[in-house]
Amino acid sequence: MNVSVSASTTAHVSPPRSVSARAPRPRGLYDLSAAELETRVSDQGLPAYRARQLWGWAYRQLVTDYSEMTNIPESLRGPLSRLAPISLLEPVRNLSSDDGETIKTLYRTGDGQVLETVLMLYPNRATVCVSCQVGCAVGCAFCATGLMGLTRNLGAGEMVAQVVGAAREARLRGRELTNIVMMGMGEPLQNYTETMKFINIVHDPDGLDIGARRITVSTSGVVPRIDALAAEPLQLNLAVSLHAPRDELRSKLVPINRRYPIATLMAAVDRYIAKTRRRVSFEYALMRGINDSEQTACDLADLLRGRLCHVNIIPLNPVDVLPYERPNPEGIERFAGILRAAGIPSTVRYSRGLDIDAACGQLRAKELELPAASRIPS
Ligand code: SAH
Ligand code: SF4
Repeated sequence: MNVSVSASTTAHVSPPRSVSARAPRPRGLYDLSAAELETRVSDQGLPAYRARQLWGWAYRQLVTDYSEMTNIPESLRGPLSRLAPISLLEPVRNLSSDDGETIKTLYRTGDGQVLETVLMLYPNRATVCVSCQVGCAVGCAFCATGLMGLTRNLGAGEMVAQVVGAAREARLRGRELTNIVMMGMGEPLQNYTETMKFINIVHDPDGLDIGARRITVSTSGVVPRIDALAAEPLQLNLAVSLHAPRDELRSKLVPINRRYPIATLMAAVDRYIAKTRRRVSFEYALMRGINDSEQTACDLADLLRGRLCHVNIIPLNPVDVLPYERPNPEGIERFAGILRAAGIPSTVRYSRGLDIDAACGQLRAKELELPAASRIPS
């Protein structure tokens, strides 16, 4: 952090909250791995199986209150709840798309930050789109979250709480949560430690048991952390937000490209593929007159040819205060057709939840001052 204070004043100065990217560190249940919970429980002289029971209630039954944990004696529930409090995010508002298949939840954190999570129900899977930061420091030109700048990182527990909330929403609709995409607010590879901690908790086979192949980390291209991710024991899906095949254009759209230009990024992607043998996805938000020309499609095909990859062409979700537009359907088809003809596997994906501002790049907690009537009754 860029704050220096002299030794004599240190004790009186607390870091300014608005510039700190660090998450507060409440060590509630959702912040703990199963092993950490077990240690905490054993340290109190309680048997380890109590921790396992608690884990099952939290992540199998999705119980959010100690009073519902019926096989734990009442006399133990109080001490356990103090040992590992369930620090839920406070839901402020729930919005459902017209077809009921996309549900956006707006949450308030303990320190009053607002963030958003989206649950998407498909015939064969239920996917939650998780936020990992309040705002984002990368500042991509077309992204609503980027407009906010970074307020702070989320802690692992705050990400777990989003997933538990989505799993409960899914279950209310007779569905089980199957997939996680780190495509909400924020850049997961700029909040690496908490993101990995979160992933390990939701992956735990005795808990939510979301398989590594069902977890996707999306990045604007933080190269050293792509290498770190490749070295993790869990082999996750990697999505790289490319959006342009040439440095001049990409640096304008995705400013981190100035630090890690395309050649550097592609070398990291190649190392990721070599190490994991997993296909990498490239996200490409298609913008009219910006990155949708025939020449750009040909350049993209040249860049990606021969790589184990897939391109997701996402027609831009326009953000009201930004000047970028979505191409018309013919423009989208022309671009996709060039990639297809060049043999680059690609799919045009329309984002879910446009009618509730839940689409890619639209997640921006702008509803900070909600009238009381719009709050979810508890
Ligand atoms: N920060 C990470 C993950 C969150 S953004 C990243 O950038 O990859 C998730 C995806 O939404 C990224 O591919 C991002 O580029 C894309 N996105 C952002 N704004 C968008 C918009 N207005 N329309 C379509 N996609 C957008
Ligand atoms: Fe941040 Fe991703 Fe938005 Fe870029 S697209 S500003 S990296 S959240």
